Amino acid sequence: MRLVEGLTGIEEPRPADLAGRTLDCPCGRRHQVPIEALVTDPGGVQEVGPFLARKGHRRVWLIADERTFAAGGSQAEASCREAGVVVKKTILPGEPMPHADKEALGRLAFDLEPEALPLIAVGSGTVSDLARFLAYRTGTFFVTVPTAPSMDGYTSSVAAMLVDGVRITFPAAPPRAIFADPDIYSRAPRELIAAGYAEMLGKLTALADWRLSAVLNGEYHCPLAEELVTDAARPILEDPGSPAVLMEGLLWVGLAMLMVGTSRPASGSEHHVAHYWEMRALWEGREPYGHGERVGIATVLIQHLYEELFDRHRDQLAELAARAQGSAHGTETQIRTWYGPVADGLLKEQSSWGSKAYGPRPLTAEGLEAAAQAVQPFRLSPDTALAFLARAGAPQHPYEIDVSPELVEITLQAAKEVRNRFTILHLLNELGLLEELSQVVAGNVATDRRPGEA
Ligand SMILES: [Zn+2]
Ligand SMILES: [Zn+2]
Repeated sequence: MRLVEGLTGIEEPRPADLAGRTLDCPCGRRHQVPIEALVTDPGGVQEVGPFLARKGHRRVWLIADERTFAAGGSQAEASCREAGVVVKKTILPGEPMPHADKEALGRLAFDLEPEALPLIAVGSGTVSDLARFLAYRTGTFFVTVPTAPSMDGYTSSVAAMLVDGVRITFPAAPPRAIFADPDIYSRAPRELIAAGYAEMLGKLTALADWRLSAVLNGEYHCPLAEELVTDAARPILEDPGSPAVLMEGLLWVGLAMLMVGTSRPASGSEHHVAHYWEMRALWEGREPYGHGERVGIATVLIQHLYEELFDRHRDQLAELAARAQGSAHGTETQIRTWYGPVADGLLKEQSSWGSKAYGPRPLTAEGLEAAAQAVQPFRLSPDTALAFLARAGAPQHPYEIDVSPELVEITLQAAKEVRNRFTILHLLNELGLLEELSQVVAGNVATDRRPGEA
């Protein structure tokens, strides 16, 4: 935390110390944290009511699902009641798990009042996205009570919504306050905590992809955001043992995203792969596995691709650069094959990007060598990544989330289409290596099929 200590003058800062701060960063930008309160102490949920009352609100709208309401909703409600704030609630069904989609939004729309009420989101990813979207669209604000250290989006300023099977991010605003009470989120189901650890593993490939693009494309890069994410992830990757350390780490990651205004510091190719699996499950009528679980397994595959390119092909970088001519993204025909029923939606989304090309080209041997060195601190052998997931109690292999080796091969080629954010997948496509290396990684996955399976 060397940079953030220097910029804030605070030794060993905690996320709460950054609330409301403005920092002049060596990246040349002035970063702001537009969150007024970031409570991380035990019993923090008691502060929800007093916070809203201080803001002059006498009536609020609490959103949760059945499970998250049981986990922390009644406590948030009680704290409002004691502070003289009337709570209106909408509790979505807990089973099947709700999504941030038109069904849930429609259900919530029935409870909208003419004069927008500030929202309390009690839950994790889905409930936060729904509240964030609604608060922004109705011109009010929301506060959040996280019920699981399962994801890094609590501070997020964008709402990730499912629109006709495609995950699309909409502009929104971060919560006005976060009440992360360890007495609540530490009691989250074991698999949600494991999902948070798996999510953390994905930070390394996200940071590697960011550096890759900074070196090869001249993309904006912020050393402060990188430091926050790195320092949040390291202790957790060494010892996945404390939900409180995990939650604090996830909040640091969220603050890094908030400061640079995009999810770039925390989300790269491993997320694109995870998004593809989610979309595919939805259009095939299966319930997708959790976000963190998908990210963890995807991270192992992406680390394997890094190893293939920068270890096994290291002495061929000059030759590869000379041959490179491919585009970063696939053709419309390929996209239609990979995305089936959601291809039209994705192509429409892609047409809103403007250009699908990245940074100055052609790629050079020097550029690739510099990239290889720049990503080195974030490299992990696939075996080390697998061992971490095992220790964290998270699934490690694609078959555990119903992803076959054949689907791995398709995914590694298809996933780069979901965002206009340069990653190792785009680089491999430009180098003409993506198809071949997708087969290599899929072949490796095929050797660890489910025990007893042919
Ligand atoms: Zn994530
Ligand atoms: Zn910066």
